[in-house]
Amino acid sequence: MPIPFNRPHLTGNEFKYIAQAHENRKLAGDGTFTKHCHAWLETNTAAKKALLTHSCTAALEMAAILIDIQPGDEIIMPSYTFVSTANAFVLRGGVPVFVDIRPDTLNIDEKLIEAAITPKTKAIVPVHYAGVGCEMDVIMDIAKRHNLYVIEDAAQGLMSTYKGKALGAIGHFGAISFHETKNVISGEGGALLINDDRFVERAEIIREKGTNRSRFFRGEVDKYTWVDIGSSYLPGELIAAFLWAQLQEAEEITKERLRIWDQYHHELAEFERKGLIRRPIMPLHTQHNAHMYYMLFNSLEERTEAIDRMRKKEINPVFHYVPLHSSPAGLKFCRTHGSLSVTEDLADRLLRLPLWYGLQDIQTVSAAIFD
Ligand SMILES: *Cc1c(COP(=O)(O)O)cnc(C)c1O
Repeated sequence: MPIPFNRPHLTGNEFKYIAQAHENRKLAGDGTFTKHCHAWLETNTAAKKALLTHSCTAALEMAAILIDIQPGDEIIMPSYTFVSTANAFVLRGGVPVFVDIRPDTLNIDEKLIEAAITPKTKAIVPVHYAGVGCEMDVIMDIAKRHNLYVIEDAAQGLMSTYKGKALGAIGHFGAISFHETKNVISGEGGALLINDDRFVERAEIIREKGTNRSRFFRGEVDKYTWVDIGSSYLPGELIAAFLWAQLQEAEEITKERLRIWDQYHHELAEFERKGLIRRPIMPLHTQHNAHMYYMLFNSLEERTEAIDRMRKKEINPVFHYVPLHSSPAGLKFCRTHGSLSVTEDLADRLLRLPLWYGLQDIQTVSAAIFD
């Protein structure tokens, strides 16, 4: 049997809730299931306000509008991330400024941020790679001293913590993804976490096409109208119904993924001792959600050989991001600050192993890497 890289997990209650939404004849956004999801996210992350979006990409775009990114404004972020981290700001005319990552966690190197700040800098966007927290205390302190916003790309970070705080609930904003490749899913889906009260009302407006419809539904105004820029960023109730089934099992999903992660970590210890690979490094003050199991080979050649060996056994490992600063759009719309040598080096040597709810073949996968 081939072993796929990802296999979306279904809890069994998705259809039941979708049928309920169907029966209620409430299919547009912000119905009962959306409210359940908002309440769950606010309770479990301690965010001041959670708003479902149709993707993490949409949540990042909302954040870029909320902090009023103007053409030429700079946003400091890692290059080793998904396209949307940068694209959300480029859409507003902003210029992502890439700095290098830490060799241990592959997260933005917080020591390089301050030197990249210019009078045009408006925000820092830490990306919690593999659901492992960035050094948020340092980043929040830099932001405070330079009057910058912090938008956490917590796409991979639901159920992870940094010093006990949920990822996504530490900066001014956090963006979460429920894409089917993440831990808790709704096919496509996301949420914006708002951790600063000042932005809540405008966030609701931007999410509802620039109207004050949310206030109208709450009976706070007697008609709704166009009051600001915005777009349609909210998912329909069928998506929210699906997501509600998943959120109710988030803890169980995380536990099962951690079981698999820990077993990989155990199986691969021997290869690390022999100097063949480096396993993930987890700082003690972060608790991760087992979003990903990756390893680093000593060279691109050794990684290519391992992929070939595994594919022959019908196992499908995959590498990850092409650093954004070397992509065609990255070259056009962004700039770098300082050397990105760690990013370039690690991107070539990283490989991710299959990790999904119910995966039993951890020994088979591990053994296939060098056999
Ligand atoms: C998955 C991911 C995104 C995009 O999420 P969508 O919900 O697909 O828009 C953004 N950033 C990171 C780091 C991701 O892993």
